[in-house]
Amino acid sequence: MYKLIKTEGSARRAEFITPHGTVQTPAFMNVATCGAIKGAVSALDLKDLKCQVQLCNTYHLHLRPGDKVIKQLGGLHKFTRWDGPILTDSGGFQVFSLAKLRNIKEEGVYFSSHIDGRKIFMGPEESMQIQSNLGSTIAMAFDECIENPAPYDYTKKSIERTVRWLERCKKEMTRLNSLEDTINKEQMLFGINQGSTYKDLRIEHMKTIADLDLDGYAIGGLAVGEPAEVMYEIIEAVEPYAPKDKIRYLMGVGTPVNILEAVYRGVDLFDCVMPSRNARHGHLFTKSGIINISNAKYELDDTPIDSQCQCPVCKNFSRAYIRHLLKSGEMLGMRLAVMHNLYFYNNLMEEIRNALDNGEFESYYRHYREILGKRI
Ligand SMILES: [Zn+2]
Repeated sequence: MYKLIKTEGSARRAEFITPHGTVQTPAFMNVATCGAIKGAVSALDLKDLKCQVQLCNTYHLHLRPGDKVIKQLGGLHKFTRWDGPILTDSGGFQVFSLAKLRNIKEEGVYFSSHIDGRKIFMGPEESMQIQSNLGSTIAMAFDECIENPAPYDYTKKSIERTVRWLERCKKEMTRLNSLEDTINKEQMLFGINQGSTYKDLRIEHMKTIADLDLDGYAIGGLAVGEPAEVMYEIIEAVEPYAPKDKIRYLMGVGTPVNILEAVYRGVDLFDCVMPSRNARHGHLFTKSGIINISNAKYELDDTPIDSQCQCPVCKNFSRAYIRHLLKSGEMLGMRLAVMHNLYFYNNLMEEIRNALDNGEFESYYRHYREILGKRI
């Protein structure tokens, strides 16, 4: 259930109540693709990093170790030792980006595993069954993620099919939630708005899915090659048609500035691999901008990554030490860098929430949109 506390312009401060706890929004979900954050960060570490929601990938977990294995082990919460909310994606995005030889039909998608080439079929029912086996808090509807730019006619046909798939997802989830041996009988379902960069198709699609009374609404298929300005325009176009009393999730976004801009336009929930992926390459976020820790100027720098940061890494370790570890290929270097970046994102969301609580979001936004993307 989504409980709106306060608004400032289009930005929203709210609580999202789930069977696994309440999420203070706006919030960033930390991506544990195969059930772990890449960079040797466990669910126990996430507690120290202000993480509220863990996101796991259906496609990856279906292939390895298999969702039926995870179900036998009691579901993702027990398996990964994370007791807060978990969102699983539908597998759709990975089927369309990773899998080989895919063939899209009305019933679903036939494809070959990117690991061993074995033939797999996934449709709306299969995606819901896998996510039910995983026992996540929130399941995402199975959709087609179209690359931008896409032809108009194709996009129109695709979103019509995505609506039919969404109806099938909803029906299948209702069935699964009523079964005796289902792990999470209160699993929630989010629908996904698609329509490439065509505003009329986006709006028409959002209107249609808004009528289905889902637990939340995602905007998908953005940040896949189009300029950031186009993404902001699409958010502005669909926002008035997204239900006011439901949470809104912008999938796979993005940089700290992207997130700030999207909160400004009324988005509540985010996920992105950027903080962990960039950390592994030595790109670290600070309140003054982005640093590249491998630069020679940090060789003798015994100050923390960000002197304003209260994360466990910045409280203890220096730039020089982390730079040395990363250069030496020590796993600890990756781990520390990833922990800092995740804390930075989660803390940024907390600051945004505080700014909204205090009625100061507008000035927070104006100040940090100029700074957070700078390379220093
Ligand atoms: Zn830090």
